[in-house]
Amino acid sequence: MKFYEEMAEMYVGDDVSPDFYGWVFPKYDHVGVGTGTVVNRPAIKQYQKAIRDRAGDKISGGKIIKVEAHPIPEHYRPRRVQGRIALVGDAAGYVTKCSGEGIYFAAKSGRMAAQEIVSLMKGGQHLPTQSEIEQTYLKKYDGKYGPTYVVLDILQKVFYPNNGAREAFVELCKSKYVQQVTFDSYLYKTVQGNNPLDDLKLLGDTIGCLIKGYANAKPDQEFSNPIESQKRI
Ligand SMILES: Cc1cc2nc3c(=O)[nH]c(=O)nc-3n(C[C@H](O)[C@H](O)[C@H](O)COP(=O)(O)OP(=O)(O)OC[C@H]3O[C@@H](n4cnc5c(N)ncnc54)[C@H](O)[C@@H]3O)c2cc1C
Repeated sequence: MKFYEEMAEMYVGDDVSPDFYGWVFPKYDHVGVGTGTVVNRPAIKQYQKAIRDRAGDKISGGKIIKVEAHPIPEHYRPRRVQGRIALVGDAAGYVTKCSGEGIYFAAKSGRMAAQEIVSLMKGGQHLPTQSEIEQTYLKKYDGKYGPTYVVLDILQKVFYPNNGAREAFVELCKSKYVQQVTFDSYLYKTVQGNNPLDDLKLLGDTIGCLIKGYANAKPDQEFSNPIESQKRI
């Protein structure tokens, strides 16, 4: 395990995940060895074994402390405020589709909820109601980040369902404009890109890349429940 004291690893390939990556992440006194998938969740045990095999000798001799699997919380929870309880971060389902980003949104939603609740309390004179928290924290959060979630959801649906679409995405990312928009969107946490000419060109390139990707990509592995899996994208 010494190998991982100063090292994190990411693995890609159909053996560890058809649509995500496998990882070995060092923690304080242990390592997390994991993988993820949206499209083939029933096979998670097979992918977990594959990532352990890939890490191989580097984790051999280690004691298994816990084996677990969880859904990525990338759907808003149906109720994010109940009475005077407000959910934030993963508990609220704030991980974005496509990028799987949750740290910023966890910190931001935590701060936003706290600031709104403190302000509603008027220096301790008032207990905020559910409706007041919804009208402040939820309304502001959704107003600011709602469009980002919608765009990333669409991107995931277009570019993640199979190898052809994923190859198209890789091809598209060679474009400087796509790189700039992606970088800026990560930096500012809202979807950037408002150059109509470049956006029009991007639409054309997207269609071209999708046609090429679908024609040339390696066929997908068989999934045990393709219909249910596709619904999860
Ligand atoms: C493999 C992987 C890769 C990721 N990569 C990225 C990435 O590159 N970028 C990114 O932005 N996001 C990434 N994420 C998502 C990100 O880690 C989460 O969205 C983020 O950590 C959520 O923060 P949180 O504070 O809401 O929840 P958490 O980080 O889960 O914090 C919740 C805390 O509550 C503690 N807790 C639980 N129950 C109790 C209890 N009963 N009493 C007291 N404490 C309790 C837990 O121990 C935990 O420390 C990744 C997630 C995974 C799994």
